[in-house]
Amino acid sequence: RVSIFWFRRDLRLNDNHALSQALKSGEEVLPVFIFDTDILKKLPDSYDRRVDYIHRALIRLKQELLVFGTDLRIYVGKPLAVFEKLQSDYQVTTVFCNTDYEPDAIKRDELIKNWADGAGIGFRSFKDQVIFEKSDVLKKDGSPYTVFTPYSRVWKAKLTTESLLPFEMDAERFKKLPFEEIPTLEDIGFQQTDLTFVKPVLDEGAVREYDKFRDFPALDSTTRLGVALRFGTISIRECVSLALKCNETWLNELIWREFFMQILFHFPDSQTKCFKSAYEGIAWRNNEKEFEAWCNGETGYALVDAGMRELNETGFMHNRVRMVVASFLTKHLLIDWRWGEAYFAEKLLDYDCSANVGNWQWAAGCGCDAALYFRVFNPEEQLRKFDKELIYVKRWNPEFESKAMNRIVEHAFARDRALHTYKNGLGK
Ligand code: FAD
Repeated sequence: RVSIFWFRRDLRLNDNHALSQALKSGEEVLPVFIFDTDILKKLPDSYDRRVDYIHRALIRLKQELLVFGTDLRIYVGKPLAVFEKLQSDYQVTTVFCNTDYEPDAIKRDELIKNWADGAGIGFRSFKDQVIFEKSDVLKKDGSPYTVFTPYSRVWKAKLTTESLLPFEMDAERFKKLPFEEIPTLEDIGFQQTDLTFVKPVLDEGAVREYDKFRDFPALDSTTRLGVALRFGTISIRECVSLALKCNETWLNELIWREFFMQILFHFPDSQTKCFKSAYEGIAWRNNEKEFEAWCNGETGYALVDAGMRELNETGFMHNRVRMVVASFLTKHLLIDWRWGEAYFAEKLLDYDCSANVGNWQWAAGCGCDAALYFRVFNPEEQLRKFDKELIYVKRWNPEFESKAMNRIVEHAFARDRALHTYKNGLGK
């Protein structure tokens, strides 16, 4: 008889809620990870830093589990088929996992829960990747918040010391298992990438100074914890505890993350549809050549091009620059935000459906709590404000300055065209 602990977006042993519960359940615990072929087959390229990141995180987990005389069992396939196999190999009593709030993950978990119900197996999921989930923070009338400021106020008011207590792990209860080699990346159809995996650490000094330097891309002074939060190699409770102690601005960023997660949970259609439906009326130009120039960092606007090159070369882009390139695509080029969202989804190491969709809709003006549509970022002005010395743009775009910038579109013209098109689309 065993309980299964199913690792997903929580690739760590410390302060892991469902793992802690599984180890308390009385049964021996078999730790499992599934390379879900339904997800892998959707990835457009075999060179994918996210798959490499997961692979390296699993290697680390296996090393950590070895100390407790157990091992992580890794499967490749559709989760349902894997669970059927597990059921035939072991007498499974309960499946434990941490809740995942993305629409596709909810469907997957419903499928597994139905199978478990039918097989007389328990399926128990726990809140782990957020402080407040689903309907923890609601308006007085029971509806979800769609504006950040009141949401964050209630979020902060609800926070207690208990919300941040770490979950202990009773490692004695792991099932003893011999070590097995992990399948290689090549075995699952992927390649090694240039990624350097480092155990995520919270840098108190950097967090303390976060609000002072976070807007200047050349300083690279944000925490870079996005990917660790995405795959759960760091605990959100640890992050929030530090934020409370050191920096309110950083705390707000962590709350934005939960804000967008609950938006996607309550409004799953917003993954592909404008949150404000009137914006579906916008006549996007969707010029493919211009989209390609944007993707390749060849728009002739230094900050936009540097950002896209940073993304293409590393899988990361600074937040300030993400805002500029997203505004440029949707307003200057009038390309549907969904094209940009999809491109980011393909490239970003810290890609997260709720944050990506939420921020893209914000930039396009069609999201909840978005800036008014007639705010059009001026990429030149943004450059003067946030990279005055041109350090960031020269880092990613070394030929900048040596060749004349051939702009894809002139700013004043593009701005007028955007205002006109938005106005028409919205019937204003
Ligand atoms: P820090 O600045 O140190 O912030 C700490 C953490 O707070 C981040 O790692 C992230 O988890 C969270 N956070 C910060 N800002 C936001 C925000 N605006 N919305 C939601 N969470 C936030 N963030 C993602 O995690 N995944 C995405 O796919 C993503 N796509 C984006 C697309 C666009 C167009 C824009 C404008 C922003 C996007 N962001 C996304 C938000 C933000 O840019 C990144 O979280 C941040 O740049 C990551 O850097 P960092 O890890 O150093 O974060």
